[in-house]
Amino acid sequence: MKNEILIKNATIYTGGETGKLLKGYSLLIEGNKIKKIWKGKNFKNKYSKVIDAKGKLLMPGFINAHMHFYSTFARGIYKVKSSKNFMEILENLWWKLDKKLDNEASYYSALIPLIDSIKKGTTTLIDHHASPYNIKGSLFKIEKAVKDSALRGVLCYEVSDRDGQDKTQEGIRENLDFIEYAQKKGDDQIKAMFGLHASFTLSDETLEKAAAYEKQFGCGFHIHCAESQSDQLNCEVTRKMRVAERLNKFGILGPKTILAHCVHVNDYELSIIKDTNSAIVHNPQSNANNGVGIADIVKMSENGILFGLGTDAMTVNMLEELRSGLWLQHLKHNPSKGFNEICKALIENNPKIANRYFGGLGEIKEGYYADIILIDYMPCTPLENENFYSHLVFGISQSAVDTTIANGKILMENKKLKLDIEEEEINKKSIEIAKKIWKEF
Ligand SMILES: [Zn+2]
Repeated sequence: MKNEILIKNATIYTGGETGKLLKGYSLLIEGNKIKKIWKGKNFKNKYSKVIDAKGKLLMPGFINAHMHFYSTFARGIYKVKSSKNFMEILENLWWKLDKKLDNEASYYSALIPLIDSIKKGTTTLIDHHASPYNIKGSLFKIEKAVKDSALRGVLCYEVSDRDGQDKTQEGIRENLDFIEYAQKKGDDQIKAMFGLHASFTLSDETLEKAAAYEKQFGCGFHIHCAESQSDQLNCEVTRKMRVAERLNKFGILGPKTILAHCVHVNDYELSIIKDTNSAIVHNPQSNANNGVGIADIVKMSENGILFGLGTDAMTVNMLEELRSGLWLQHLKHNPSKGFNEICKALIENNPKIANRYFGGLGEIKEGYYADIILIDYMPCTPLENENFYSHLVFGISQSAVDTTIANGKILMENKKLKLDIEEEEINKKSIEIAKKIWKEF
């Protein structure tokens, strides 16, 4: 029997740039795509599965445009030296933790947030991985975790010169192996990019090399850009130029490149980013947690830049990130600013960014991938096209995700996971790994 899932009695928010509400609609999934959307309850066929969406809102699965699966084992960690600035945070925590990951740890480090993503309705994640003492094969292990969770991922390895030339070479090799594999496979769940850490840990030679390799594949770069003021200071002192300027000089920018953060970019850099059609991904909670500042997404929007929303591994709950992002724009500007911009980042721009790699994501539309979530939501005030974003921020974000479907597969229904893997067993295993990692901290 064909995989045909009928969802009836649905209030649909279609998402994307032209998002609208459709009340009293039915939707048919065939295979991994949305086959048909129609008003009313006219059902002729027998379906392999029928879901009643009454009392729920149907919308596209969320996309997390900047993630680090590798940070999972930092949850609950103690004995970490307290840090007064961004460089100390990297040295005292992240650059210690990532060195302790072997391929098995990288697998569990990815699988745990992926399972969490299903619960929070996030169906696509664009990840940036680091495990400098176990680079070879790490992306393939993470691919397995993405496949085991049945979600979608865009993967890369963050090349850096911080641990010497051998590690740089290994990082480049891992990217190339995985990009070649993913492009050959043409899988609609897994895509690859070329990962780079950040300007301040990359030499001119490494940037040159990376740019030459990337040209062969056209996969784009995923890199941190001007996350903290120290990245700019380093660049200005050692290279006599700004970070985005330097990246552009080496051919790192372009329509498939993601620049995470851009908290400290000036008008000149914004114009370069716009001209090269690169995407920025804003990570408000992480920026606040690291005390590095608040990126100006209002200005990015005024400059016509494509800016999306990521979590930098602070959470996989995109609605939590959305709300935090809004409060921070209010603090940065005033409470009249940032509302449309932050909603646009998640609902309109993240699909545009993800579709630079996949195509057919982020909208409830016939022919698009069936990445669909149902959220418990019975509005207590009128819910219309004009006020959907206000319901999203103040109401829908406070409601539970009930059902998650990715690639036409039901991964959670009635808030129960429907995976072939045992969550309890996975947690037991990951606790063992965490104990081992923490012991050496
Ligand atoms: Zn990051």
